[in-house]
Amino acid sequence: MALRLYAATTNAGKLRDFRTAAQTYSLTIEPLPGLETIPAPEEDGATFAANAILKAVYYSRLAPGDLVIADDSGLEVDALGGAPGVRSARYAADAGLVDSPDANDNTDVWNNMLLLQRMAGVPAAQRTARYHCVLAAALSGVVEHTADGSVEGVILDAPRGTGGFGYDPLFYLPDLGKTMAELDLETKLSLSHRGRAFAALVPSLLERR
Ligand code: IMP
Repeated sequence: MALRLYAATTNAGKLRDFRTAAQTYSLTIEPLPGLETIPAPEEDGATFAANAILKAVYYSRLAPGDLVIADDSGLEVDALGGAPGVRSARYAADAGLVDSPDANDNTDVWNNMLLLQRMAGVPAAQRTARYHCVLAAALSGVVEHTADGSVEGVILDAPRGTGGFGYDPLFYLPDLGKTMAELDLETKLSLSHRGRAFAALVPSLLERR
Protein backbone atom coordinates (compact mmCIF):
# COMPACT_ATOMS: atom_id res chain seq x y z
CA MET A 1 0.00 0.00 0.00
CA ALA A 2 1.24 3.50 -0.79
CA LEU A 3 2.60 5.51 2.14
CA ARG A 4 0.36 8.51 2.74
CA LEU A 5 1.90 11.85 3.56
CA TYR A 6 0.06 14.95 4.61
CA ALA A 7 1.50 18.19 3.29
CA ALA A 8 1.16 21.23 5.54
CA THR A 9 0.28 23.48 2.64
CA THR A 10 -2.81 24.57 0.77
CA ASN A 11 -0.62 26.09 -1.95
CA ALA A 12 -1.55 24.32 -5.19
CA GLY A 13 1.87 25.01 -6.73
CA LYS A 14 3.72 23.42 -3.82
CA LEU A 15 1.42 20.37 -3.82
CA ARG A 16 2.01 19.99 -7.55
CA ASP A 17 5.80 20.16 -7.05
CA PHE A 18 5.67 17.49 -4.34
CA ARG A 19 3.30 15.26 -6.28
CA THR A 20 5.42 15.49 -9.41
CA ALA A 21 8.49 14.47 -7.41
CA ALA A 22 6.54 11.65 -5.73
CA GLN A 23 5.19 10.18 -8.97
CA THR A 24 7.71 7.38 -9.30
CA TYR A 25 7.38 6.24 -5.69
CA SER A 26 4.74 4.41 -3.74
CA LEU A 27 3.64 7.60 -1.98
CA THR A 28 0.50 9.68 -1.95
CA ILE A 29 0.42 13.29 -0.87
CA GLU A 30 -2.68 14.96 0.44
CA PRO A 31 -3.14 18.39 1.98
CA LEU A 32 -3.49 18.14 5.75
CA PRO A 33 -7.26 17.95 6.39
CA GLY A 34 -8.73 21.16 7.79
CA LEU A 35 -5.56 23.14 7.20
CA GLU A 36 -7.43 26.27 6.11
CA THR A 37 -9.08 26.57 9.50
CA ILE A 38 -5.94 25.95 11.59
CA PRO A 39 -4.11 29.12 12.70
CA ALA A 40 -0.63 29.13 11.13
CA PRO A 41 2.37 29.14 13.47
CA GLU A 42 4.67 32.13 13.32
CA GLU A 43 7.60 31.38 10.99
CA ASP A 44 10.21 33.11 13.10
CA GLY A 45 13.10 30.67 12.61
CA ALA A 46 16.49 32.00 11.55
CA THR A 47 16.93 29.32 8.89
CA PHE A 48 14.80 27.47 6.33
CA ALA A 49 15.38 24.29 8.33
CA ALA A 50 14.17 25.88 11.58
CA ASN A 51 10.97 27.11 9.91
CA ALA A 52 10.31 23.84 8.08
CA ILE A 53 10.79 21.88 11.31
CA LEU A 54 8.61 24.18 13.41
CA LYS A 55 5.79 23.87 10.86
CA ALA A 56 6.10 20.08 10.48
CA VAL A 57 6.15 19.59 14.26
CA TYR A 58 3.22 21.95 14.81
CA TYR A 59 0.97 20.48 12.12
CA SER A 60 1.86 16.84 12.84
CA ARG A 61 0.46 17.25 16.36
CA LEU A 62 -2.89 17.82 14.69
CA ALA A 63 -2.76 14.51 12.78
CA PRO A 64 -1.28 12.05 15.28
CA GLY A 65 0.01 8.87 13.66
CA ASP A 66 0.39 10.39 10.21
CA LEU A 67 3.59 11.70 8.65
CA VAL A 68 3.31 15.41 7.91
CA ILE A 69 5.70 17.28 5.65
CA ALA A 70 6.27 21.04 5.68
CA ASP A 71 8.67 23.17 3.71
CA ASP A 72 10.30 26.55 3.86
CA SER A 73 11.92 28.09 0.85
CA GLY A 74 13.27 31.31 -0.54
CA LEU A 75 15.92 33.08 -2.54
CA GLU A 76 19.54 33.39 -1.39
CA VAL A 77 21.57 36.07 -3.18
CA ASP A 78 25.32 35.77 -2.65
CA ALA A 79 26.09 39.49 -3.11
CA LEU A 80 23.52 40.26 -0.39
CA GLY A 81 25.00 37.82 2.12
CA GLY A 82 22.22 35.28 1.49
CA ALA A 83 19.32 37.77 1.72
CA PRO A 84 16.39 37.77 1.34
CA GLY A 85 16.66 34.14 2.53
CA VAL A 86 14.07 33.18 5.15
CA ARG A 87 12.58 36.65 4.74
CA SER A 88 11.93 36.17 0.98
CA ALA A 89 8.15 36.48 1.22
CA ARG A 90 8.43 39.50 3.50
CA TYR A 91 11.44 41.24 1.95
CA ALA A 92 9.67 44.47 0.96
CA ALA A 93 7.39 44.35 4.00
CA ASP A 94 10.44 44.18 6.30
CA ALA A 95 11.77 47.27 4.52
CA GLY A 96 8.46 49.07 5.12
CA LEU A 97 7.46 49.18 1.43
CA VAL A 98 4.25 47.20 1.85
CA ASP A 99 2.09 46.55 4.88
CA SER A 100 2.30 42.77 4.86
CA PRO A 101 2.64 39.99 2.32
CA ASP A 102 -0.69 39.03 0.77
CA ALA A 103 -1.31 36.77 -2.21
CA ASN A 104 -3.77 39.33 -3.62
CA ASP A 105 -1.59 42.37 -3.52
CA ASN A 106 1.61 43.41 -5.27
CA THR A 107 4.03 41.89 -2.79
CA ASP A 108 5.99 40.12 -5.53
CA VAL A 109 6.35 43.36 -7.50
CA TRP A 110 7.64 45.22 -4.45
CA ASN A 111 9.96 42.37 -3.49
CA ASN A 112 11.44 42.33 -7.00
CA MET A 113 11.82 46.11 -7.04
CA LEU A 114 13.69 46.04 -3.75
CA LEU A 115 15.92 43.22 -4.97
CA LEU A 116 16.77 45.20 -8.13
CA GLN A 117 17.55 48.25 -6.04
CA ARG A 118 19.83 46.34 -3.66
CA MET A 119 21.59 44.67 -6.61
CA ALA A 120 22.12 47.92 -8.54
CA GLY A 121 25.74 48.17 -9.65
CA VAL A 122 26.64 44.59 -8.71
CA PRO A 123 28.74 43.20 -11.59
CA ALA A 124 27.41 40.24 -13.61
CA ALA A 125 29.91 37.74 -12.19
CA GLN A 126 28.75 38.51 -8.64
CA ARG A 127 25.01 38.15 -9.25
CA THR A 128 24.83 34.46 -8.35
CA ALA A 129 21.85 33.20 -6.35
CA ARG A 130 19.79 30.12 -5.63
CA TYR A 131 16.32 29.05 -4.68
CA HIS A 132 16.63 26.87 -1.62
CA CYS A 133 14.05 24.64 0.00
CA VAL A 134 14.19 22.62 3.19
CA LEU A 135 11.56 19.97 3.81
CA ALA A 136 10.85 18.44 7.19
CA ALA A 137 8.80 15.35 7.96
CA ALA A 138 7.33 14.95 11.44
CA LEU A 139 5.24 12.33 13.18
CA SER A 140 2.99 13.16 16.11
CA GLY A 141 4.95 16.29 17.02
CA VAL A 142 8.45 14.84 16.56
CA VAL A 143 10.67 15.69 13.59
CA GLU A 144 11.81 12.53 11.82
CA HIS A 145 13.71 13.70 8.71
CA THR A 146 14.81 16.82 6.86
CA ALA A 147 16.16 17.30 3.33
CA ASP A 148 17.42 20.15 1.15
CA GLY A 149 17.00 21.06 -2.50
CA SER A 150 18.26 24.01 -4.49
CA VAL A 151 18.52 25.44 -7.97
CA GLU A 152 21.31 27.81 -8.98
CA GLY A 153 20.84 30.97 -11.05
CA VAL A 154 21.80 34.59 -11.58
CA ILE A 155 19.86 37.78 -10.72
CA LEU A 156 19.14 39.88 -13.84
CA ASP A 157 19.04 43.67 -13.80
CA ALA A 158 15.52 43.78 -15.32
CA PRO A 159 12.58 41.34 -15.21
CA ARG A 160 11.93 38.89 -18.05
CA GLY A 161 8.88 36.68 -18.58
CA THR A 162 5.39 36.51 -17.17
CA GLY A 163 5.14 32.98 -15.79
CA GLY A 164 5.87 31.68 -12.31
CA PHE A 165 5.65 33.80 -9.19
CA GLY A 166 7.85 35.50 -6.62
CA TYR A 167 11.34 36.31 -7.87
CA ASP A 168 11.00 34.18 -11.03
CA PRO A 169 11.22 37.11 -13.54
CA LEU A 170 14.65 38.08 -12.15
CA PHE A 171 15.99 34.54 -11.64
CA TYR A 172 17.97 33.60 -14.75
CA LEU A 173 19.19 30.10 -15.56
CA PRO A 174 22.36 30.51 -17.66
CA ASP A 175 22.25 26.92 -19.00
CA LEU A 176 18.74 27.40 -20.36
CA GLY A 177 19.16 31.06 -21.39
CA LYS A 178 15.83 31.88 -19.70
CA THR A 179 14.42 33.19 -16.46
CA MET A 180 12.20 30.97 -14.33
CA ALA A 181 9.30 33.17 -15.49
CA GLU A 182 10.04 32.23 -19.12
CA LEU A 183 9.98 28.47 -18.59
CA ASP A 184 7.10 26.19 -19.40
CA LEU A 185 5.62 24.52 -16.37
CA GLU A 186 7.09 21.10 -17.10
CA THR A 187 10.65 22.45 -17.32
CA LYS A 188 10.16 24.53 -14.17
CA LEU A 189 8.85 21.50 -12.30
CA SER A 190 11.81 19.42 -13.43
CA LEU A 191 14.16 21.99 -11.83
CA SER A 192 12.14 22.80 -8.75
CA HIS A 193 14.08 23.21 -5.48
CA ARG A 194 10.99 21.84 -3.74
CA GLY A 195 10.93 18.79 -6.01
CA ARG A 196 14.62 18.23 -5.39
CA ALA A 197 14.18 18.49 -1.63
CA PHE A 198 11.31 16.05 -1.85
CA ALA A 199 13.36 13.58 -3.91
CA ALA A 200 16.12 13.82 -1.28
CA LEU A 201 13.60 13.12 1.50
CA VAL A 202 11.98 10.09 -0.13
CA PRO A 203 14.64 7.44 0.67
CA SER A 204 14.39 8.11 4.42
CA LEU A 205 10.59 8.08 4.23
CA LEU A 206 10.53 4.76 2.42
CA GLU A 207 13.09 3.22 4.77
CA ARG A 208 10.71 3.49 7.69
CA ARG A 209 8.05 1.34 6.03
P1 IMP B 1 7.49 29.96 1.26
O1 IMP B 1 8.28 28.69 1.19
O2 IMP B 1 6.10 29.78 0.78
O3 IMP B 1 7.58 30.61 2.60
O4 IMP B 1 8.15 30.94 0.18
C1 IMP B 1 8.88 32.06 0.55
C2 IMP B 1 9.09 33.00 -0.59
O5 IMP B 1 10.24 32.59 -1.33
C3 IMP B 1 7.99 33.14 -1.62
O6 IMP B 1 7.01 34.04 -1.21
C4 IMP B 1 8.76 33.69 -2.81
O7 IMP B 1 8.98 35.07 -2.65
C5 IMP B 1 10.09 32.95 -2.68
N1 IMP B 1 10.06 31.70 -3.46
C6 IMP B 1 10.08 30.44 -2.99
N2 IMP B 1 10.05 29.56 -4.00
C7 IMP B 1 9.98 30.28 -5.13
C8 IMP B 1 9.90 29.93 -6.52
O8 IMP B 1 9.87 28.75 -6.94
N3 IMP B 1 9.83 30.98 -7.38
C9 IMP B 1 9.84 32.27 -6.97
N4 IMP B 1 9.92 32.65 -5.71
C10 IMP B 1 10.00 31.66 -4.78
